[in-house]
Amino acid sequence: MAEGSIQGACLCGTVRFEIDPPFQKMIHCHCSRCRKSSGTGHATNLTADATQLRWLSGEDAIGRYELPGAKAFGKWFCRHCGAPLPRVRRNSTLVVIPAGSLDAPPPMAPTDHIFWASRAPWACGSGGLPTHAEYPDSW
Ligand SMILES: [Zn+2]
Ligand SMILES: [Zn+2]
Repeated sequence: MAEGSIQGACLCGTVRFEIDPPFQKMIHCHCSRCRKSSGTGHATNLTADATQLRWLSGEDAIGRYELPGAKAFGKWFCRHCGAPLPRVRRNSTLVVIPAGSLDAPPPMAPTDHIFWASRAPWACGSGGLPTHAEYPDSW
C-alpha cells in the first residue's frame, strides 16, 4: 500500500483497489442516470486521473456497462455482488470513484450538487452546498 493511498472494495470483497489522492472533485450528482445506476437519491463521486488507481484483486470480476447513446455514462460493478466500482470514462483518462466504495474517508468533502434541476422530489436538501442545474459552465 502506497503512503497516503486509500483502499476500496465491493460489497463482497472480490474486487479491491487502491487510489492515490489528490482527487479533483467530489460531487453529488442528481441526474436520472445516477439515480437509476445507484438506486439512491444521488450519486456521490470523486474524480482522479486513471493513473492514480490500482486494482488489487478481482479485476476479472468487473462488469462494465457503457450506456448506449451516452457520451460517457456507464457503470462498472462487481459481477458477484453488483456493487459499484471505480470506472475509467471512455475516451478519457479520468476515473470516477463512487465515494461509498472507499474503505476510508477521502481527504476532501463534497463541493457541489450537479443536475440539481433533475433531482427527485424526495431528495435530501443541499446542505448549503452550491447547486447547479446541470454541469457548471466552467466544467
Ligand atoms: Zn463483489
Ligand atoms: Zn449523474
